Amino acid sequence: MALRTIRLQGDPVLEKRCREVAEITPKISELIEDMKDTMYDANGVGLAGPQVGVLKRIVVIDVGDGPIVMVNPQILETAGEQTGDEGCLSLPGKAGTVTRPNYVKARAYDENMQQYEIEGEELLARAICHELDHLEGHLYTELVEGKLRDVTYEDE
Ligand code: ZN
Repeated sequence: MALRTIRLQGDPVLEKRCREVAEITPKISELIEDMKDTMYDANGVGLAGPQVGVLKRIVVIDVGDGPIVMVNPQILETAGEQTGDEGCLSLPGKAGTVTRPNYVKARAYDENMQQYEIEGEELLARAICHELDHLEGHLYTELVEGKLRDVTYEDE
């Protein structure tokens, strides 16, 4: 298990647009594994390349149903709306209210560069939107309604 340092808000790497992944090299495979380890270690539901300082279009998500790897992801369709709390591993101890689509359909490649489509509702839809925003250099703080709040986690 290899953990990478999670970049925090204010780090310029979080504000840059990411590049497409052309092929899964051993280095990319290692990065994906490290991103999963880092996400689980931090009790997150998602992590994007820039959050570990890598400007590549790679996202890992786990909303409780196992890991989802999204390479070069693209949103195909959204529907509905949900308003709820959102947090980010790059802003530890903070949360804010964000409105997102309630349904998302996306296309991506997995860790073997096999293309697939995924549909998600509620938390999964929120996580996909949040993580894909990271690939464009955007943080959820740009979308927060009202103020960011301080939160405490019981397991820390
Ligand atoms: Zn985030």
